[in-house]
Amino acid sequence: MPEGEDIPVDVILLNTCGFIGDAKEESVQAVLEAVEKKNRGDASSVIVFGCLSQRYADELPALIPEVDGWFGARDLNPVIRALGVEPDAGRNTDRLLTTPSHYAYLKISEGCDRRCSYCAIPFIRGAHKSVPMEELVEEATLLAAKGVRELIIIAQDTTYYGLDLYRRRALAELLQKLSEVDGIEWIRIHYSYPAAFPEDVLDQMANNPKVCRYMDIPLQHISDKVLDNMHRNVSGAWTRELIGKMREKVPGVVLRTTMIVGHPGEGKRDFKELLDFVEEARFERLGAFKYSEEEGTYGAENFKDSISSRVKQERLDELMSLQSGISLQYNQSRVGTEVEVIVDDFSDGIFVCRSEFESPEVDGEILVRHDVAVMGDVDPYSLIGDFMKVRITGADEYDLIAEPIEF
Ligand code: SF4
Repeated sequence: MPEGEDIPVDVILLNTCGFIGDAKEESVQAVLEAVEKKNRGDASSVIVFGCLSQRYADELPALIPEVDGWFGARDLNPVIRALGVEPDAGRNTDRLLTTPSHYAYLKISEGCDRRCSYCAIPFIRGAHKSVPMEELVEEATLLAAKGVRELIIIAQDTTYYGLDLYRRRALAELLQKLSEVDGIEWIRIHYSYPAAFPEDVLDQMANNPKVCRYMDIPLQHISDKVLDNMHRNVSGAWTRELIGKMREKVPGVVLRTTMIVGHPGEGKRDFKELLDFVEEARFERLGAFKYSEEEGTYGAENFKDSISSRVKQERLDELMSLQSGISLQYNQSRVGTEVEVIVDDFSDGIFVCRSEFESPEVDGEILVRHDVAVMGDVDPYSLIGDFMKVRITGADEYDLIAEPIEF
């Protein structure tokens, strides 16, 4: 941007999500709210980009004409130009953080080469494209220089990383390189995929102290019939074996997964198998969605969405109620243990923290009371972004209570 020129502050930029019904509704609602602001004179223009606007590029401009610009999911440069600024390729790895300054999401690839039958993402985001390792290391180095201590690795499919660029799965190698960046203390992995899971990633988790013993691995189901309908390329037996290996190779690992209930073909027996599996695998964290038919997907074109929304809701409730007991038991088992945490925030005399076992936004928090006996006259706000050692003293289904030991 030429010196002396400001980006207009009253432009509303909206990054939208459009892969399932709930996300689409939320995105449209956000666009309508932005348009309302513009109509009230609180903003001069509204620019929308991301999955929703890409997916419905033909319909949305006519439906919401007050929007000044619609762009797709990979249109970063056109969006920058729409702001009247010429993109600077040299600053591709430079980031303006919207998270607290001590953690950042690192997107290691874009798009997806899988073809899960229910999922619209591959035709919205395109084919899998890994970001070269050296660019990611450079980005991590710049982030560390800004104070980032925790990297959260994301992509549509993190375990596919490297296949397109290096003809091998290279996530473990990337973890090693990122862990060598000064200042980065924690690296956690989200959105891994079970088929052909690269087991050297488990070695990193077991042996590299900077790689969190935390794995987010969406499994979606366990019944062979449903997995087959979903085109997930794994069987129930394979999934069980993989979970067993993770627990064996990485003692203490915390597993987060997601499941879909009510997928076409999910009979009572399949759902019971899912419940039994969740009971047996004891995922520390689990989220679930009701199947939502998405136009253009293999599922929408080839299956009948025949399970009623009432049954889907009942299954979701049953699954989540089973999981809430498992999560509570897991949290209670941590009472009395000591753990290192990072301080995310401080308010009303309480530090809001997480350990390597909690990811921001999706998992619970560890709430630590301010203790003058331990902290003396140190300004508590100065501890945000720092590590602290705490003892867990209480637990509910989501959050943990702890007392500080040292900082
Ligand atoms: S791996 Fe994830 S993003 Fe890719 S098709 Fe399957 S569900 Fe969609």
